This record gives sequence, C-alpha cells and structure tokens, in this order.
Amino acid sequence: MIRSTCAATFLALALSLAPCPSLPADELPELGDAARADLSPQLERKIGQRIFNDIRLHEASYVDDPEINDYVNLLGGRLVAASSGPAGSFQFFVIRDNTINAFAMFGGFIGVNTGTLLTAQSESELAGVLAHEIAHVTQSHLARQMAREKQHSIATMIAMAVGVLAARSNSQVASAAIASAQAGSVQAQLAYSRDFEREADRFGFQTMVKAGYDAHGMGDFFGRMQQAGRVYENNAPVYMRSHPLTVDRITDMESRAQNASYRQVADSLDFHLVRAKLRVQAGTPGEAVSEFGRQLREKKYVSEAATRYGLAYALLKTKDVAAAQKEVDALLALKLSSPMIAGLAAETRAAAGDRTGALNIYRNALQRYPQSKALVYAYAEALLAARQYEQGLRFLDSQLQLYSSDDQLYRLQAKTFAALGKRLQQHRAQAEAYLLLGQLGAAVEQLQFAQQSGDGNFFEQSEVDARLRELRKLQMEEAKEKKNGGWNG
Ligand SMILES: [Zn+2]
Repeated sequence: MIRSTCAATFLALALSLAPCPSLPADELPELGDAARADLSPQLERKIGQRIFNDIRLHEASYVDDPEINDYVNLLGGRLVAASSGPAGSFQFFVIRDNTINAFAMFGGFIGVNTGTLLTAQSESELAGVLAHEIAHVTQSHLARQMAREKQHSIATMIAMAVGVLAARSNSQVASAAIASAQAGSVQAQLAYSRDFEREADRFGFQTMVKAGYDAHGMGDFFGRMQQAGRVYENNAPVYMRSHPLTVDRITDMESRAQNASYRQVADSLDFHLVRAKLRVQAGTPGEAVSEFGRQLREKKYVSEAATRYGLAYALLKTKDVAAAQKEVDALLALKLSSPMIAGLAAETRAAAGDRTGALNIYRNALQRYPQSKALVYAYAEALLAARQYEQGLRFLDSQLQLYSSDDQLYRLQAKTFAALGKRLQQHRAQAEAYLLLGQLGAAVEQLQFAQQSGDGNFFEQSEVDARLRELRKLQMEEAKEKKNGGWNG
C-alpha cells in the first residue's frame, strides 16, 4: 500500500487550473517569494479563495445549486462549530462526480463529490468524511506539510497536481503530463504523512461525536469504501487513492467507535431530500419519474417524504405541472417542514402561473428559514418575474446588509436594475459581483459602462467615479505585486 497521502487536496487545485483558459498548466500563477516562505493564514485564504473562484467560474462539474450548497454548508458549519482548532471561515461546496471523494484546500475550502453524498447511507457517514477534512484544515496539515518539504514550491506542487488530474480524466493528456511531472514523484511530493492522516481521523472523530453524530459513521463509511475498492481493483475510488486506508487506521477507528456509547442518530430530512434531488439530476427526469414512482408503489424507500419530493421534482422537470402539483400536495400533507419542500411548492405554483401564490409561499418560508440562501435567491427571482421591482430591490438591500460578500445578491440586483432600465446602477451592481469573484478587470469594465451610461444622478455618478478610482488603484497594486513575483490573488 502506498503511503498515506492527501493528493486530493492538490487534485482540487488542478481541477480549477486544468480547464481554466486564464491559467493553462504551462503558465502557472506567479508565486515568487510567497511560494518559498511559510504561508500566513491570510495568504492561505487568498490562495484558497482564488482557486475556489476558478472552480466556480470555470469548472463545469461545480454544483451551482443553492439548496445543495445550503445543505452542505449547514452540515459543515455544525461540524466546524464542534471542532477543536481555531475557528476560521469555512466554505463547503459540491462537485458533480460519481467517484467518492472529498478534499480540503488552502483557507478552509472543502469540496465533496456527489458520489460521496449518494454513497453515504446515513448522515453520520457523510459527517465523518467532512469532519476528517475539517481536521486537515484546523490542524494546518497543508501548511505543515509544506514546511516539511521546503524544497517544493507551491508552483511545483500545482504543476504536479495538474499532471495527476490529467492522468485521471483523460488518457491522452495523461501520457504527456505524467512524463513531464513524473508520476512516481507526484505521490511522494503530494503525500501527507501517515501521522497527519491519523491525526485527521482522531480529531474528525471527536468533532463528529461532539456535534451529535453516530460514532460509528466514520468507520462505516470507510468500510463501505474498502468494499468498493475491492470491486474497482486498480481503479479504486479517488478518495481511496488519496486517503489510503491502512490496517492501523481501520483498527483505530473501530476501537474508538467501540469505546463511544452507542446512540441512534436520526438523519435530517434535508439529507434525504438532497440525495433525492441529486438522483433526479443524475439521469433524465423521465427515468426519475418511473424510479421514484415504483418506489412509492412498492413502498420501498427510506424516507417517504424524500421519495415524494424526488417524484414531484422530476415531474416538474418533465413540465407535467398538474402531476407535480398533485405530488407536492401529497408531500405537504405529510406535514414536514424544510426550506427545500417550500421551495419546490413555490416553484410548482409559479410553473402553474400562480405568481402570487408562489410569492406567499416564499414569504412564509423565509420567516421560518431566514438563513436559507436558496429561498432568498428564489424569492428575489420571483419578485423580478412578478415585476415587483421596487420590492425586490428593497429585499436585496436588506440581504446585502447581512451578506455583503454574496456575489449572487449583486447579480440579482443588477438584473432587477436592468429590468427597470437603470443602467448605471445595473453596471455598478454587476461590477461588485465580478469583484467578489476575483475578476477585477471585468469589474473595472462594468464601472466604465456605468460611467458611460448617461444615467443616474450626480450623487450616483460620483459614487461610480470613486469606486472606479479604488479598483484602478487595486489593479496597479496587483500589477506591481506580479512584477515583483508575488502571489497575485
Ligand atoms: Zn486525509
């Protein structure tokens, strides 16, 4: 068995770099001194943010679904709150990929594949996987590993990771990439020590138990993967290759679970709803309609609500609104509450042409779940569709007071301003959205459009001028940093 590694972390780097036209593999980011010096938490965050932005912008498999994002961030947040290490900010996201994988990047960005969400048989199993990755972050394993292997710059590691990813996804690219990156050394360079893997297991276990999940979840999931690994033989799940299971690790996990008191932990409703939604998205809506329909007829399901949800969601996707409404009614009759159920009910009302009914459902649901980003975005879209522009802007303003770094809120603001024909404000809002995605050039361009719009009052025009001066200054600083060979985030 190869050494314990955490190459997955770097695979994440590669994931963003490989398909990104601005960062081809042979033109890696200028890292300069930053690559050799110890990483400060600020620099780690900056690197992580940049990679995350690249994933969001260029990675087709990034799951851009606010409901699924809400769910993994709620679960992840609950675990982070129960973890030991210093509480930094964490961001969880999902990659549409059937293989089982999860990875931690610099700065608390943690990705998990849909394959992991669908393979986990309980929420505690999923919690175990995430808790392990959280521990890699709170114990600063990335930075510590880099300090151990000082001779390797971040740039070298990214270059090798690109090779690793290429080897996985495309055999033609693989041969060239492997030749240049020398696959043999990739393992060694990117390897986390066995100590770090065991430490992540230990801290991860404590975290999930403290957060109230079943102590056996972690071991159960690893056992399931080990079985999958046997099936796959040399083509083991990515997670197995990046976090190999040694006999020691399994023994440790088993004895820890045995010492913990047994408790039955119920899965959250949203765990099942998210899985049902992912199942529908994995195939055609028609297939999902017949599959969920069969499960309901034969009463073969873990959660009736999730099965009905999957059927209603699939029916809505086939545009059979009447049948979807019937299933939504049956789902609501179960008297269970979730922001996802409310969201589907509202979407179905809107599809039936009942805009007022949809808005009422969103308003009620937001009172109950004010933190649901999915409901916030959907409500703002619904107000836009109902041409209630002023109300939409007031709502988005109130949300921006709470979440000033949410680019999606700015995008919705820009759309609403556009519908009103307020072009200065539209470009101004779009500039902020680009800025939050790390696209400084595009943000400057939007402010220039705002200036040229011939729109807005004197006060608004002065604001645009001032903002443009700020961003140009930022552009100059970045150019200077780049010239000096620093990290240009
Ligand atoms: Zn690990």
